[in-house]
Amino acid sequence: MKTIIVGGGIMGLATAWGLARQGHAVELFEQGPLPNPLASSVDEHRLIRHPYGDHAGYARMIDQAYAAWELLWNDLGQRLYAATGTLALTGNGESWAARSAATLARIGKTMMELPIDELPQRFPQLDARGVDRAFWMASGGVLFAQDIVAALVRHLAGRPNVALYAHTPVRLVELEHARIVTDAGTQHDADVVVVAAGAWVGRLLPTDRRLVPSRQVVIYFDLPAEQRAIWAKHPMVIDKTGDVGLYLVPPAEGRGLKIGDHVFSRTGDPSAERQASEEEMRPLLRRCGDLIKDFRRWRVDRLKVCFYTVTEDERFVVEKQGAKGWLMSPCSGHGFKFGAVMGLELARTIASGRDPAAHARWAAGLEGDKPS
Ligand SMILES: Cc1cc2nc3c(=O)[nH]c(=O)nc-3n(C[C@H](O)[C@H](O)[C@H](O)COP(=O)(O)OP(=O)(O)OC[C@H]3O[C@@H](n4cnc5c(N)ncnc54)[C@H](O)[C@@H]3O)c2cc1C
Repeated sequence: MKTIIVGGGIMGLATAWGLARQGHAVELFEQGPLPNPLASSVDEHRLIRHPYGDHAGYARMIDQAYAAWELLWNDLGQRLYAATGTLALTGNGESWAARSAATLARIGKTMMELPIDELPQRFPQLDARGVDRAFWMASGGVLFAQDIVAALVRHLAGRPNVALYAHTPVRLVELEHARIVTDAGTQHDADVVVVAAGAWVGRLLPTDRRLVPSRQVVIYFDLPAEQRAIWAKHPMVIDKTGDVGLYLVPPAEGRGLKIGDHVFSRTGDPSAERQASEEEMRPLLRRCGDLIKDFRRWRVDRLKVCFYTVTEDERFVVEKQGAKGWLMSPCSGHGFKFGAVMGLELARTIASGRDPAAHARWAAGLEGDKPS
């Protein structure tokens, strides 16, 4: 069986990996270089964590995600992950961490509530004023995203049943016939076509209005050396205490320290020039100043503009479309952690003829177990 995949981000590459390791032929088309620095998947890191608010389906899927990453590390011969643990803070009437803890308790996992008066001692880098409740979990960590994508490209390039076409934009997809046409006018045919085009998906499937590109800005910081060493061992922080919620990615294993917010802009063109100013990051920087002790000694190293592809309910869209097509868009700003499992499971469904509707429900986090 031969599958064409459009898009060389984590979703397209992981699906190619899943199919190729079962012995199937794959042709993957990427409009830019492979990896493409403009892809959502190409940044120093992405977080993986069990707490998921009310989304029990995704919370349950985290164990499957970890198992799929293990399989990938095994195939790649390297582990591109650092465990950090997860610290979630709430205040200001927010309840995400408490709801996450309740959801996890229902599925048999423990997120421990920490006494607020112990926070200064346990996490002396943080200013706990305004924090009403704090929760801790030993699981969770940092996936070295751009290294994973680059390693997957190298791995796939070495497989005889995989053809990678970089700098080859696809302009037309025929889902009924598993056919694509490149910008250069070349036609390719297969048994199945998977569209994993990230924030550009609307150009290939313009009638699907559920998936909205969303320009997001993250900040990388320069820290004094002694602070860097401390933060390198710090858990990830998900803070929903101030008027701006933020996540902090610790600088594990020599990577940068990054802070972002999860507020969807729901605007922007992923192909437009990507510029951001410190000015537009003022609210986030103000919140950092309140939450992080000694923040005045931090310097903004760089701003990075990246794109989410968001749905109204933040659930993933992975669906069969037409007789021979799949739309694969697991994003809404939280898809990378599931990249390996999304790719493996879609490859299994394509190859085994599993029920596509069950697959779509599972990917949308609406079922606890894998599609059957
Ligand atoms: C700032 C930021 C922070 C995030 N943090 C997290 C996190 O902590 N944890 C987490 O789990 N997730 C996180 N995410 C989400 C995660 O990164 C995405 O869900 C995931 O990377 C999406 O992968 P993808 O393969 O669908 O898209 P992409 O990585 O964007 O890949 C799509 C590819 O398709 C190519 N393409 C598009 N159109 C065409 C065409 N016509 N022809 C050929 N190629 C084409 C593009 O060039 C691109 O390379 C974050 C995202 C951002 C932006």
